[in-house]
Amino acid sequence: MVSLSEFNVQTNTQTDWFNITDNVQKAVASSGIKEGICVIFTSHTTAALTINENADPDVPHDVNLSLNKISPDRREFQHSEGNSAAHTKTSLIGASLTVIVTGGKLLLGTWQGIWFTEFDGPRKRKVHVRVIGE
Ligand code: ZN
Repeated sequence: MVSLSEFNVQTNTQTDWFNITDNVQKAVASSGIKEGICVIFTSHTTAALTINENADPDVPHDVNLSLNKISPDRREFQHSEGNSAAHTKTSLIGASLTVIVTGGKLLLGTWQGIWFTEFDGPRKRKVHVRVIGE
């Protein structure tokens, strides 16, 4: 079986992290697929998806500090939109994830959550979920 669904994320600030684990789990549940894989994809160039700790809100804060250190705004950037630091962060983090589905649920560790990361908000964003299995 194959299932495709999508949901929106409204980001509120320039840099924002949203725990979308429940949204993705709902997509898996509504697919009816019990054993397989789930591909999560976001169709944007200044946002990304990552799996990271779901408990301590200081983790997204600290990862953002690190990303800002790795990819600061630079005077030398040439992209006229002025958001090359965000484009760089998106390339570093990535636009898609693959998670194992078993027993009709995402196979995630206790402390793992699926995060949508915004680097050039606020914007209305889209996340696509493809579930493949039986
Ligand atoms: Zn741009």
